[in-house]
Order: sequence, then C-alpha cells, then structure tokens
Amino acid sequence: MSNTMLTQHPHTPGEVGTMYNDYTDVFNRALGGNIHVGYWDDDFDDTPVPEATDRLSGLVAERLAPAEGDDLIDVGCGHGSTAMYIAARHAVQITGVSVSKYQVELANGRPQPADVPGQATFRVADAMELPFADESFHGAYAIESLMHMKDKEAAMRHIARCLRPGGRLVVAEAFLGGELDRSDVALMADTCSFFKLSMTSDVYRQLMEEAGLKVVDLTDVSENIRRSYGIMADTWREAAREVDGAKASEWKTAADLTEWFGTVSQVRYGLMTAVRP
Ligand code: SAH
Repeated sequence: MSNTMLTQHPHTPGEVGTMYNDYTDVFNRALGGNIHVGYWDDDFDDTPVPEATDRLSGLVAERLAPAEGDDLIDVGCGHGSTAMYIAARHAVQITGVSVSKYQVELANGRPQPADVPGQATFRVADAMELPFADESFHGAYAIESLMHMKDKEAAMRHIARCLRPGGRLVVAEAFLGGELDRSDVALMADTCSFFKLSMTSDVYRQLMEEAGLKVVDLTDVSENIRRSYGIMADTWREAAREVDGAKASEWKTAADLTEWFGTVSQVRYGLMTAVRP
C-alpha cells in the first residue's frame, strides 16, 4: 500500500461530526481548552498545555494578519476556542463552521469577548460545500480540519471561492513527509480509520495552487508540536479509566494509536499560508 492510498477515506461529514460530538470533551481536556496541538520552542520549554495550544492560535492569527473590520471564516472551528482567541485580539467578525452539532452549541454558548469589537458566530456546515457567497471573506483559516475531509480539492475550491482577492488562507495541518516504513503502514491505516481522517503526503501546496491561490509561506513545525500526541494519549488513557465496557476499550485504543502516531518520524505538521491573487 502506498501513501497515496492513505489519502483516501470513506468517512462522511456526518460520521466525522458524530465522532466530534463524542470526543470533543476529551480533546478539550487534553489540549487545555483547545482542540489543536500545542507549540513548544524546544524540549526544555515547559510552557503549560493551555498556553502552548493558544500559541498555535497566535501563530495562525499572526500569519492571517487581519485588518480591522475583516470578515474571517474558521473552517472546521471546533468548539470555537480559536475564533474567540482571535476575536479577543482583533476587531474582526468570524464565522466558524463545524460538522459537529455539539461543538457548534458549545461555541455559540461562549460569551463574546468583552471590551473589544471582535465577534464570532458558529454554524453547522460542510466545508466541502460551503454555504457562503463568492468573495464573502477577507481571510480564512483551517486548523486540523482538512485532514477529515474526504474531498480536499472541493474544500479548497470552496475556501478559495469564498475569499476576496487579496484574502489570505492559513492552514495548520499534519501530513506525511515521506514514505512510511512498511511496518507502519497498517497501523497508520488503523489510526486514520479510527479518527476518520486521511494522512496525505505533502499535498497542501498543490491543493492551494490548484484552487488558484498563491502560496506565500510554508513552515514546518513538526518538532515544536510533537509533544502534543503524548499528552493526548495520556488523557485518553486517563479518560478510559473513567468509563466502562466498550467505551473504555475504544478510548484505550485511541490512547495507543495516538501515542504511536506521535513516534512516527514521517508525521509532519505545517503552517501554510496562501493568498488569493
Ligand atoms: N480547528 C479547531 C478544531 C479542530 S478539530 C481547533 O483548532 O480547535 C477538527 C474540526 O474539523 C472539527 O470541528 C470538525 O467538525 C471539523 N470538520 C471536519 N470535517 C469538516 C467538514 N467537512 N466541514 C466542516 N468542518 C469539518
């Protein structure tokens, strides 16, 4: 089996949404209030998890560099933590979309930032069929959401279509930076199937370019974020002890797969910025 085969997955947005209805609380607990990886400068950096995961939101915001009054879209917004982080620091309006109804409820239940003009609202929508008019947004970002989309070309086309000329897209995503060792292929397939995602090779530059965007920056932060997988695995293991039966064994599997995933050197993580000409 080649890496190319791993790019395909059969999971519908509905199935991905159901998974996030079930798993959001554990991810949130592991990742200190966010549902994405943390960023550490090096092995000696002892920044606590909540700040480390907020740092990733900060790195995305820095690349997006929104102007006052901008309309932004958060593609695969989770429970709204990133949008609220950005809205608390920039005078922008953010629209978040997720396929998980539970996440959208949590996100819309958050208080809007006090004393700043930023705002965020959230709705259930599929990024592969974004329900927004052409050129509706000044900027877009997608953190760890494209990996769950079985038609990444369609999602990228929709994101590009919804951006105004000059608008930026920032993607934060895991991918495979090389051919897997033969002994890892089956476990990677299990991991992708368990978490309803595809680990593609480094296709994001190509996807952006094919959608008519111009890539302006690619930054590999694989070793800065790697610690996150062990942290998630520990929390899955802890959470598994609090539940019974099938759920306990499912969550132990989540722990084992996540722990293994973090040890695979070909698993990379990039911050990728493009602009619509
Ligand atoms: N970006 C968030 C959440 C990452 S979890 C954060 O950084 O905290 C992955 C997110 O992608 C979930 O919110 C999930 O609902 C969303 N997602 C997955 N497939 C999607 C699709 N087809 N359309 C919209 N959102 C999707």
